[in-house]
Amino acid sequence: MTAISSNLGYPRIGEKREWKRALEKFWKGEITEAQLISETDQIRLQSLKKQQDIGVDLIPVGDFSFYDHVLDTSVMFGIVPDRFNYQGGKVDLETYFAIARGTKDAVASEITKWFNTNYHYIVPELDNSKPTLTENRPLTFYQEAKEKLGIDGKPVLLGPITYLHLAKGYRKENLLELIDTFVPLYVQILEELQAAGASWIQIDEPIFGTQLDQSILLKAEQVYQQFAEAAPNLKIILQTYFEQVIHYQAISNFPVHAIGLDFVHGNTLELIEQYGFPSNKVLAAGIINGRNVWKADLEERLSFLESIRPYVSTDQIILQPSSSLLHVPVTKKLEEKLNNDIKAGLSFADEKLTEIVTLINGWNNGKIKITNAIKENRVERQQFIRASSRSNEQVKQALATLTASDAVRDSSFAERIKQQQTKLNLPLLPTTTIGSLPQTAVVRQTRTKWRKGDITNQEYDQFIKENIRKWIAIQEELGLDVLVHGEFERTDMVEYFGEKLNGFDVTEFGWVQSYGSRCVKPPLIYGDVSFNKPMTVKESVYAQSLTKKPVKGMLTGPVTILNWSFVHEDVARFTVQNQIAFALRKEVQVLEENGIQIIQVDEPALREGLPLDERKWKGYLEAAVYAFGLATSGVSNSTQIHTHMCYSEFQDIYDTIDALDADVISIETSRSHGEMVGSFEDHTYDKEIGLGVYDIHSPRIPAKEEILENINRALQNISPKQFWINPDCGLKTRSEEETIQALKVMVDAAAEVRNEK
Ligand code: GLN
Ligand code: ZN
Repeated sequence: MTAISSNLGYPRIGEKREWKRALEKFWKGEITEAQLISETDQIRLQSLKKQQDIGVDLIPVGDFSFYDHVLDTSVMFGIVPDRFNYQGGKVDLETYFAIARGTKDAVASEITKWFNTNYHYIVPELDNSKPTLTENRPLTFYQEAKEKLGIDGKPVLLGPITYLHLAKGYRKENLLELIDTFVPLYVQILEELQAAGASWIQIDEPIFGTQLDQSILLKAEQVYQQFAEAAPNLKIILQTYFEQVIHYQAISNFPVHAIGLDFVHGNTLELIEQYGFPSNKVLAAGIINGRNVWKADLEERLSFLESIRPYVSTDQIILQPSSSLLHVPVTKKLEEKLNNDIKAGLSFADEKLTEIVTLINGWNNGKIKITNAIKENRVERQQFIRASSRSNEQVKQALATLTASDAVRDSSFAERIKQQQTKLNLPLLPTTTIGSLPQTAVVRQTRTKWRKGDITNQEYDQFIKENIRKWIAIQEELGLDVLVHGEFERTDMVEYFGEKLNGFDVTEFGWVQSYGSRCVKPPLIYGDVSFNKPMTVKESVYAQSLTKKPVKGMLTGPVTILNWSFVHEDVARFTVQNQIAFALRKEVQVLEENGIQIIQVDEPALREGLPLDERKWKGYLEAAVYAFGLATSGVSNSTQIHTHMCYSEFQDIYDTIDALDADVISIETSRSHGEMVGSFEDHTYDKEIGLGVYDIHSPRIPAKEEILENINRALQNISPKQFWINPDCGLKTRSEEETIQALKVMVDAAAEVRNEK
């Protein structure tokens, strides 16, 4: 008997985002449902085939999705909010996409971040729905892989404990009962899989990386007991990831065949050393980082495995990535433009699976059997590590002399806001937007042409200027109070800075799914980060020259740049974060010197980056506050600093929001259906704030009544003197027409409320 390799999930999007294109064509009505299905079938089967060719023993099936795996789980259980008029039975694609994206009559379900990642899931709305099994999804995909490719796949299923923790529309005290109502449905899935000949199933329970009540742990154990009894021949892997589990002793004793643990994040090895590992279970060890793109050090990984060896027998282990590979790009083989030294240090999904297959060979047959692979790995890693462009002594020294006072502003908010008001002279309830304006097909095509060299730098600059001019005029016409230049020059709010700062590089095809069909291409931080030359000044200054109204300078903050990049691992994360902040501080100062009076530094990733383990929150948040302060505190009192954050659950970081000391913050609100506003009941927030008054993720135009309701709800807890009126987030994904219409409604609503005050 030998140990085997496994994967937890494979990217859905295809090597060149074919999945995204198919979906978007379908939404636009350019292809039929049958075409969508056949195109995505192909992508999925190719991905399975690739894993088979690489030699992965346990290949995940059912990890594919048309949008999101949490939504897949909801519709499988018939959990569809009433407003979508669901009549029972298998949920059709139209309803499925309606829940995700909204329709003209019904708002979409809330989306929020999947644990500490930049992937967003659709929040299940349980309310009064009666869960039923509308289809056995894992079974469908299991059979497909078996019939078409002869793969005895490992179906992946989101576990009930995690699923219900992510859901809303029920009272916390009913959670245990609620779990019971889902158990028979899970049992049926497992029984049918067993009957169909499946050998394995992976049940994902990443919630075990967080703090849970004793009662939940006891319930979970009973639930898994029922699963094990229902399908005794099915090898259940209880899979955790993103963090070491907090309740190791309880969880490792659950009656399942295998326990999947993350050996990359947190210190799982210490848990095993302290408490051992049950001899009657298999350890599914996540030893290759599923969240980063750097080549593993195979020798180091092998010796790490030797420290696990005393606790398990040779065949009692499965080697796998630390999480699904959904969070990394597909393959580096397409990257032809990347600097060779950097490329040598990379490993995307396919390459990671190869590492795992190599390691399992080493584990089973001895290091000697993988000598060549180790040698090659060492040479390539050295090439990366020694690259001359990685180290910058000047930055290291500059950072070493910084102190706490370098990250705080000169005066208190009360003092600053007086000076800002005098200078800006804004009306009550000022209106603004979050930064980006529609990135139309023309904008994207022109950028592509410029990248390919089909148009000159000058032509491209001219094109960007025309867009800025057009939209400054539109914003003035709409009557907005604080304008934006529109971010037309940026593909992405992080990648843009990645292309300009030292220490960064960008890939061509390194896409990762963010929400729905939207993918992002996180830049690579391969070395010390530093300021090179002004990054945003030209566009901001041009925009400001066209209008008397203030135009906001627009930067992405240090925490977000770090979180949404793939950062090398040989310097502490917080050090890199401060390097980024220090570079941004220069940019902020240059903007100010050039007459920009308001500077927004976005931190949408601050909440999502919060460690799963609450014991680590304090350190993370303190570092975030310091970095934000370092970036923004170099300005005079009369320069107004804004920040922006996305997504709900801000209760957790309320004090941090305050400590950032931004003069104005805008927060996404409307998609949490009002929950956000509630958190201002128990706190006295003294700075200025805009709680998004309409959802920008959905193509639907908000009605004025809806916006009025959102404003008035917020004004119950927040003084109109502090309140700003803005959409939830940037408008880049919306069409020009949608944007203008929606903003018109917003400005009208603002005027109406203002008149009443
Ligand atoms: N300024 C950015 C934009 O409007 C903010 C985006 C975000 O919060 N994710 O696009
Ligand atoms: Zn946002």
